[in-house]
Amino acid sequence: MKTNLKAVLLIVLAHLLLTSLAWGDSRHEVNFPDILDYKTLKCDLHIHTVFSDGLVWPTVRVDEAWRDGLDAISISDHIEYHPHKQDIPVNHSRPYEIAAPLAKEKNILLINGAEITRDTPPGHFNAIFVTDIAALDVKDFNDAVRLAAEQGGFVFWNHPGWKPEAKGWFDIHTKLYENKWLRGIEVVNGNTYYPEAHQWCLEKNLTMLGNSDIHDPITGYEIYEDPELTHRPVTLVFAKEKTAEALKEALLDGRTAVWHKNRLIGREKYLDAIFKASVKITKPYYRQKDTIWCEIKNSSCMDIQMEKAGTERAEKLVLPANSTTLLKTKVKGEPEQAKLSYVVKNFLIAPGKGLPVDIITPLK
Ligand SMILES: [Zn+2]
Ligand SMILES: [Zn+2]
Repeated sequence: MKTNLKAVLLIVLAHLLLTSLAWGDSRHEVNFPDILDYKTLKCDLHIHTVFSDGLVWPTVRVDEAWRDGLDAISISDHIEYHPHKQDIPVNHSRPYEIAAPLAKEKNILLINGAEITRDTPPGHFNAIFVTDIAALDVKDFNDAVRLAAEQGGFVFWNHPGWKPEAKGWFDIHTKLYENKWLRGIEVVNGNTYYPEAHQWCLEKNLTMLGNSDIHDPITGYEIYEDPELTHRPVTLVFAKEKTAEALKEALLDGRTAVWHKNRLIGREKYLDAIFKASVKITKPYYRQKDTIWCEIKNSSCMDIQMEKAGTERAEKLVLPANSTTLLKTKVKGEPEQAKLSYVVKNFLIAPGKGLPVDIITPLK
């Protein structure tokens, strides 16, 4: 009897082991540290499926998001544009319903969303965290955005420089902004960065977003046909926890940064915190007269490109992603610490303006 029980237990154990081994999916992580007591959530909040003009089924978007190291996505199909309607009936709530069970299994936050699509101006707007997309399918643009806001939606302006002939901030945008219906702008969409939008976000206290707006299947990032874009554009959201509610609260509070083409775009406060949490310098491990040697570790997934501040010729220092770099520098006299002042050229705190940083190592 006892032996039988043992045998049964062994079989059960073996079975459990087999089941758990079968669940061996793994992914590369997008490494950005948590900052300022917030969790750094990696998000893509603008994605298309066959339910509008995309070319993939909603569940595929969840698999792709997981593979790309994301925490949250919003499938945001066009409300007004359905080129596949002959084959796929128009149903605004289906993309979310279809993707939701898999999103739960893969620990991806799936946010209900849609793209309100009008000619430029006003252009295209994503409404996410909405509860009834069909109700936004109305003739008047203002009504659509107002209804989205009334549903508790977070509305942002997509690809604001999409049509160069009608590029700019128009009265209609002022109206959306003054009514507090418009809360953010894509400073990055696909392979494009919009410096004007970056400036508007700073001036008007709007939330910065960077999304893929992907329509094709993601087989690799060569689909963007841009050698500089080797990863999906990502909105980093600094949230209290990994929940939809916390994500929305952080977006409303403007706590974001955008990762795009080995560049980070955002407010100084957040980029500074990302830098400080990613880059650590050791005490000098060797000293020869006035020359010291230290190690600088960059634990982020970005190559950090710096130029020495206050020097006549730009002295460059690159800290490769996930790497340790040896630094040799001179110190004058017997100071308490060595302070190296740099500008991080690929951390943009305003269009064309890098983040100033000090790297300090104690000498005593
Ligand atoms: Zn669009
Ligand atoms: Zn779109």
